[in-house]
Amino acid sequence: ERQELEKLRDEDCVSLDGKRMKLYGNMSSPIDAKKLLESGAEGIGLYRTEFLFLEEGKLPSEETQFQSYREILEEMKGREVIIRTCDLGADKVLSYHAGIKEENPALGLRGIRFCLMEKEMFCTQIRALLRASAFGKLSVMLPMISSLEEVRESKALFHKCRTELEKQGIPMAERIPLGVMIETPAAVFIAEDLAKEVDFFSIGTNDLSQYLLAIDRQNAMVHSFYHKKHPAILRAIKEVVEKGKQAGISVGVCGEFAADPDFTAFFLYLGVDKLSMNGPSILPIKKKILSCDSRKELDRIP
Ligand code: PEP
Ligand code: MG
Repeated sequence: ERQELEKLRDEDCVSLDGKRMKLYGNMSSPIDAKKLLESGAEGIGLYRTEFLFLEEGKLPSEETQFQSYREILEEMKGREVIIRTCDLGADKVLSYHAGIKEENPALGLRGIRFCLMEKEMFCTQIRALLRASAFGKLSVMLPMISSLEEVRESKALFHKCRTELEKQGIPMAERIPLGVMIETPAAVFIAEDLAKEVDFFSIGTNDLSQYLLAIDRQNAMVHSFYHKKHPAILRAIKEVVEKGKQAGISVGVCGEFAADPDFTAFFLYLGVDKLSMNGPSILPIKKKILSCDSRKELDRIP
């Protein structure tokens, strides 16, 4: 079976009804890059940088981050690498962050909110990313976006850091595509406006389902209330893809649904451009796509 899948690695990823899909890998630790390439990933769709922060137990320096990002970009040899700025808070708490006590951490100071409050920390990461951009095909995405202001403020910080580095003569990619995670209900409802500010969307189905259904993804007591094909989730995804397409930007999915064969036809049908998942799921999902006519499977679609 594995051998049969291996043969698919170099095949074009196009469905029977002619829909092309890019299959990318998710990285939660720097050691994943090589494995993802072997798994058939065309690029990295989600590099969760918070693990760099959690492993170090302290804020990683600009140099440490730069080296780490550069290494991945070089290893991927010109393939796209989407690095997500750090998504700390909620379940991913740093010791120095632990002093902040929150009743509802999932609704608290996490992701972009924490970064915009800790600007020194954020700008350190931004500078590391800008410097690394000279060594490969870098895209950057922002987690937990729930307002336009968060995007604009982040873009202003990127601009400020770029200007400073330019003055120092540091080489950088001329353009670094910037995207947002769509993982809050607010982001779904303002998708049309967000699309005007960014180059791509990446739907984070793990958090998006949690927040849409108000079901804590870590609380086993409420798992029985969780239905992955809840119409609210399906409509939200459809809305986001449509708004992204209308604006002419690329739309991907990087939550667990990307690796779930029950959703493959749905994503193809909607016109999702990219699915990013764990390595071992890539070839099985590719196999599913190659034999899928998304129009015909529509009646079986959620
Ligand atoms: C998501 O929320 O779907 C996602 C991909 O991000 P994370 O799992 O890191 O919160
Ligand atoms: Mg998330």
